[in-house]
Amino acid sequence: MGGSPFGAAEVVVAASPQEAIDAFGDGDGVTVLAGGTIVVPDVTYGRLDARKVVLIGRAGLSGVRSEGGRTVIGAGTTLAELEDAVEPLGTCARRVADPEIREQATLGGNLCAPPGAESPRGDLQAGLLVLDAQVRSAGAGGERTESVEDVLASPGGRLVLDVSVAEPEAAATATVRRPHAHAYTVMRVCAARVAGEVRVAVSGAGPRAVRLRAVEAAVAGGADAESAAGHALEDVTPQDDALASGWYRGKVLPVLVRDALTKIG
Ligand SMILES: Cc1cc2nc3c(=O)[nH]c(=O)nc-3n(C[C@H](O)[C@H](O)[C@H](O)COP(=O)(O)OP(=O)(O)OC[C@H]3O[C@@H](n4cnc5c(N)ncnc54)[C@H](O)[C@@H]3O)c2cc1C
Repeated sequence: MGGSPFGAAEVVVAASPQEAIDAFGDGDGVTVLAGGTIVVPDVTYGRLDARKVVLIGRAGLSGVRSEGGRTVIGAGTTLAELEDAVEPLGTCARRVADPEIREQATLGGNLCAPPGAESPRGDLQAGLLVLDAQVRSAGAGGERTESVEDVLASPGGRLVLDVSVAEPEAAATATVRRPHAHAYTVMRVCAARVAGEVRVAVSGAGPRAVRLRAVEAAVAGGADAESAAGHALEDVTPQDDALASGWYRGKVLPVLVRDALTKIG
């Protein structure tokens, strides 16, 4: 007993972004460990059999800076460091779990979180979607930057380096959660006006957050919040899990969409 929780796996502690990129390579057989709030329990309880683990907590991938009118957030930035970030990201970060988890959990880990079996994960994903986030990553074929929508549609296989988000003219969230620090958020809708365009997304309805494009189209066509919210279920089929049924989520989602749209005016 004792020793590394990773057993026979090769463990690399990256000390710089380049070391992390080199250790990740093409990503084959590699498990990235950032804050470890998902990976460590998964390894400990035998849900994840890691062959090579790359620890990026000391790789210099954290930090927030302004660049070209956007905010660039390092993948290793903790959710605690994002509590005052551009809205609605700040609100999403503040509502995750408790201070202990937020001090460990990272933006990259939240973006890349595999869907939980019993509760949703990836609370920051809807915020990233409405802020037109662009994700810079490394892996097979080298470095590339793509929209967070594309990353969420084809998850895995890349090392996320940083994420750049737009400065919105208005932003809001509407949420169903349970009043317990360790409870996961049941479902969250984020809405933002970015460069004059209203963007709406939901996390917690499906395995990963999605944009509600039918709602966005209705708003662009002049619909009010109530009518636009009537299109909330055209882009997502709400899921069942231990927190809530798909039926319940389907009833609540249009209400959250209407509330978030009303808040951004
Ligand atoms: C008690 C408790 C409560 C929680 N409550 C919430 C909640 O309310 N909402 C919520 O969203 N989550 C919640 N979580 C889950 C988790 O804490 C967060 O999703 C967190 O942001 C994950 O980040 P991490 O750095 O710890 O990820 P890790 O565990 O390090 O990694 C998670 C996944 O992302 C991958 N990964 C990490 N960084 C990168 C990167 N840079 N590039 C590529 N892949 C990467 C890992 O390989 C792994 O697959 C909770 C967890 C616990 C234990």
